[in-house]
Amino acid sequence: MVLRVGCHVSIAGGHDRAVGRAEDIGCNTFQIFTGNPRGWSAKDIDDKSAQNFISEVDRSKISPVVAHMPYLPNFATPRPEVYEKSCAVLLREIRRCGILKIPYLVTHLGSHLGDGREAGVKRTADAISEALDSEKNDVMILLENTSGTKNSIGGTFEDIGEILDAIGRNKRVGTCFDTCHAFAAGYDISTESGLIDTLSDYERLINLKNLKVIHLNDTKGECGRRLDRHEHIGLGKIGDFGIKRIVNHPKLSSLPFILETPVDERRGDKENVAHVRELFEG
Ligand SMILES: [Zn+2]
Ligand SMILES: [Zn+2]
Repeated sequence: MVLRVGCHVSIAGGHDRAVGRAEDIGCNTFQIFTGNPRGWSAKDIDDKSAQNFISEVDRSKISPVVAHMPYLPNFATPRPEVYEKSCAVLLREIRRCGILKIPYLVTHLGSHLGDGREAGVKRTADAISEALDSEKNDVMILLENTSGTKNSIGGTFEDIGEILDAIGRNKRVGTCFDTCHAFAAGYDISTESGLIDTLSDYERLINLKNLKVIHLNDTKGECGRRLDRHEHIGLGKIGDFGIKRIVNHPKLSSLPFILETPVDERRGDKENVAHVRELFEG
């Protein structure tokens, strides 16, 4: 079996440029932002840019391509103005993924800002349902687990399971599992028994059938400390043994693994991607 592993790559200079960058790094799957991740607005994607991107992806045989939502949207917010803007960005990103023929759109869920978990879960589910009703393309929205900081939605599998239930377990909504965030939120996937327990919780509350992408990140923070600090593969608290069990796990090994690891004097993306391939035994 072929391991699918890649990382987040830049679209600087045009969406199609991301593909060559991914190839240079050694990716056979990769993730992009379709626009500026730190703003509310996005420049339209013209037909030519979209065509160039689609033909580059076809040529490279890289699959799947994953898009990540920008950072500002918050679907759990009690502030109506931010909520409306967030919903608009979600709809726009679903459409942009459709234009670029990107099958998966990963999103964080947001923060209820102290207004209560139940209300936050409901608003998040409503935002996603509304987007699904407004644009009926083939793009699948993937709900990502978070590190469980105060007031955030998505730090527990219960949160994500409840949102999926509220949406009605729609087949256009799946999940993305971030290993750093899970560990930070208290799921100890660094040990063999911890990984078994975590996956059985995931199966029970979310269902592993919904899991489409793994964000494979090691982490700087201790388990349960709610610290979202990604680390090079094997050099953090999950470690080589932990990562090795994850990429070789029969329920996970066929999924695309996307790295969002640091780039510094110790290692770059190429080294981290190569390191994951070394840990794979398939
Ligand atoms: Zn992530
Ligand atoms: Zn993170």
